[in-house]
Amino acid sequence: MNITNFPNFYRVLGVESNASLADMKQRYHQLCLKYHPDKNQGANNEDFIKVQLAFQVLSDPNLKQHYDVQHVAHTNKCVAIHDQMSISELNFDGSVYETNCRCGGSFVLFKEATELSLAEIYVTCDTCSLCISVAL
Ligand SMILES: [Zn+2]
Repeated sequence: MNITNFPNFYRVLGVESNASLADMKQRYHQLCLKYHPDKNQGANNEDFIKVQLAFQVLSDPNLKQHYDVQHVAHTNKCVAIHDQMSISELNFDGSVYETNCRCGGSFVLFKEATELSLAEIYVTCDTCSLCISVAL
């Protein structure tokens, strides 16, 4: 995976990264109408799934926070890969995968990100700028 391939959920919804929840909700409803397989026979089901996932993550403050950390990492902060790990080496608490960073912070990978059919994903520490690559 190329760093620039990290899914940009803001772009999927067509909103700015500082968009309000109300704005995102409005865009989401428009896109659902546009892409819904029942309403639109020629629609690409993959687009519909992407929109669902984008909204699911961005409308949840907790998931959005994790996503934003990773989003930033992919757009400018992740300059060097500190370590490579497999998803099975991370602790899973039912919603997020997590592992400790040597600085005392943690690398947090939200479950939804692992469902994006990527081979690997980059995660930055929530405290320092170290970055790991996780094989899915
Ligand atoms: Zn750290």
